[in-house]
Amino acid sequence: SALEVDGLVRHFTAPRGRGTVRAVDGVSLTVGRGEVVGLVGESGSGKSTVGRCIVRLDTPTAGTVRIGGTDITRLSPRKLRPLRKDFNIVYQDPSASLDPRMRVSRIVGEPLTLHRMASGSELRERVEKLLGQVGLPPGTAERRPHELSGGQRQRVSIARALAVDPMLLVADEPTSALDVSVQASVLNLLADLQRDRGFGCLFITHDLAAVEFLADRIAVMYLGEIIEVAPAADLFAAPKHPYTQALLSAVPVPDPPVQRARQRIVLQGDLTGPVFPKAAGTAQTVDHCRFHTRCPLAVERCRTQAPEHRTLPGANGGRMVACHLVADDGTAPDAAATAHS
Ligand code: SF4
Ligand code: MG
Repeated sequence: SALEVDGLVRHFTAPRGRGTVRAVDGVSLTVGRGEVVGLVGESGSGKSTVGRCIVRLDTPTAGTVRIGGTDITRLSPRKLRPLRKDFNIVYQDPSASLDPRMRVSRIVGEPLTLHRMASGSELRERVEKLLGQVGLPPGTAERRPHELSGGQRQRVSIARALAVDPMLLVADEPTSALDVSVQASVLNLLADLQRDRGFGCLFITHDLAAVEFLADRIAVMYLGEIIEVAPAADLFAAPKHPYTQALLSAVPVPDPPVQRARQRIVLQGDLTGPVFPKAAGTAQTVDHCRFHTRCPLAVERCRTQAPEHRTLPGANGGRMVACHLVADDGTAPDAAATAHS
């Protein structure tokens, strides 16, 4: 695989010693070579922290991250350096990740220089080629970030991230800071580049239409935990987890209408921070379903026992769901029926 995350935990101490924030609490997922996996969830669900731990911008409390089979979780910076060409991240806000003093040529060429993959005229040629591949006009190499539009800056950061041909790209909300009018073109660009270059991609987003367009598989996160995983088409056709059902019920039905015109489920309450009074420690020690405070189907058991992560039979390697009410054969309750009754 391009990426294997196993039992990833990232806990923080809550302000004023009020306990432990279980930002990420036992996340396991894989991204195959050439596969696009969508990681979706509301803001505060922990999905960006997962992305930051994968690229070693943050250090997990427990668990492992393997890139192309190599465990990078606890490598020293010196040992990690040569491996950094294997993975990269594109952020939500391109302005924050591009040095305003540098010309685009240097921004995009720097990773190639750092990894001694090109220099001199070859470097210039490769940068020009990359800029062309991300759809930037000739002459962009000589510009600085502030002279570019938001969409162009995101194209520059994509070119930089892909310059050394990583096997994994983490894309964290890559379009959500952009004007709506340019979001689609940047998504299309990512889809084209992924198809042509075949890198594995973890696409982190709260934008369900985007994830349906781009992802082969989708993992749904809620309060630090992945609660459902399925091939994209299967998830959209038949979400099993009540939370996934609620999320997808809010997605506008595309034109022409398909068979998923379902009733919108309006969730009560906000995503509250996952603060627990117990000390930080191992994952999966909570004694309830994290969704029970908002779930229209919650029963007593949901307040006293955490649902197991169960693999369900199904196409394309099966599905995973964590809900007491989903049967072993995958039969799932309909949260919409309850929410509106
Ligand atoms: Fe809802 Fe209970 Fe299933 Fe959690 S386990 S999603 S609270 S029905
Ligand atoms: Mg996004």
